[in-house]
Amino acid sequence: MRKSEYFPQKVYVEKNSLDFPLTKRILKNVGPVPSEVIDEPQEVLEDIKASKDAIGEGKKYLLISRQKGKFVKPCPCTPGYLGCNYFILNIDLNCPLDCSYCILQHYLTNPLLTVHVNLDDLWRQLDIFLNKKKHRTIRIGTGELGDSLALDHLTENTADLVSYFRKKRNAIFELKTKTVNIKNILKIEPAPNIVIAWSLNSLKIAQEEEKDAPSVEERIDAARRVSDKGFRIAFHFDPIIRHPDWEQGYKEVIKKLLASVDSARIAWISLGSFRFPPSLKSIIEERFPRTKIIYDELIKGKDGKLRYFKPLRLELYKKIIGFIKEWGDEKIPLYFCMESEDVWREAMGWIPKGEENLEAYLSSPLG
Ligand code: SF4
Repeated sequence: MRKSEYFPQKVYVEKNSLDFPLTKRILKNVGPVPSEVIDEPQEVLEDIKASKDAIGEGKKYLLISRQKGKFVKPCPCTPGYLGCNYFILNIDLNCPLDCSYCILQHYLTNPLLTVHVNLDDLWRQLDIFLNKKKHRTIRIGTGELGDSLALDHLTENTADLVSYFRKKRNAIFELKTKTVNIKNILKIEPAPNIVIAWSLNSLKIAQEEEKDAPSVEERIDAARRVSDKGFRIAFHFDPIIRHPDWEQGYKEVIKKLLASVDSARIAWISLGSFRFPPSLKSIIEERFPRTKIIYDELIKGKDGKLRYFKPLRLELYKKIIGFIKEWGDEKIPLYFCMESEDVWREAMGWIPKGEENLEAYLSSPLG
């Protein structure tokens, strides 16, 4: 487990990204780590892609680059299942942690840890996007193509993001992490529409499958400290993975969590069972030969991804929802990530309809 903050072995700066304030801040914060100015990332990528473990190798280096496309995108969700109308902000790409099940291993073509530094474009794009959506509440976050806090000691982006979003009351902004990198968060004033979220799992899955991530206990402790500071917090049990004693494993973590944090400060808890595109299987087999999680009984879902049979998913969800209701407040908002209408109906007792239904449910405690 990584106890300390992440530092790359080397920083590569694209020539046209040199003059941005964020570039200067990162270069200052990395201290003695060597840096090199490059014309094109291709120069570095070829060597990394030729290495035996390009994905692992890419995590050792930080690329400072410009976002040439859109910073804001709708979460692609997955065809044939209910989405949650989430929007993603692509500032950082990739993650220094190394979870065996991480979808980014399959999804990202560039294995380098990358930070986009043209923040003026980010703010401009966000202004236009939020103005277009001003008549509805939207949920937006940075934790889909990377970990929201893993690089924050280098970028300090959370301060700027929170100060931007605190004024945008039609947006609920979420930072999602598996780290305990909360030093900067604890210096920021909370706001009702800012949510800091942790991904959690059973102790066994966290230990065996979430390489370099702090322990579940450390994550819960970080959440408690952030909540004590006045932030709303959230949790994602995703991917929920069947393993020997899974029931006891998830029960233990949920009990620990709800004994440590005040249920009233929890903005939501999301649940999602293990699912992955078939092409990720060979990557996991090669990079994590000791893992057993891909050898369970899995079926191909409507979206072509491998997942557990519906009765098994329902069993996982019903147990976990039961544990949350047993030790937490009945009113903690719960939702599924990428699940079918049938599963929603059977496990939650309702189905979100239309664009705003889920947002209204999830934002109601924010007042
Ligand atoms: S923390 Fe998230 S983004 Fe990082 S390796 Fe794990 S699953 Fe991937």
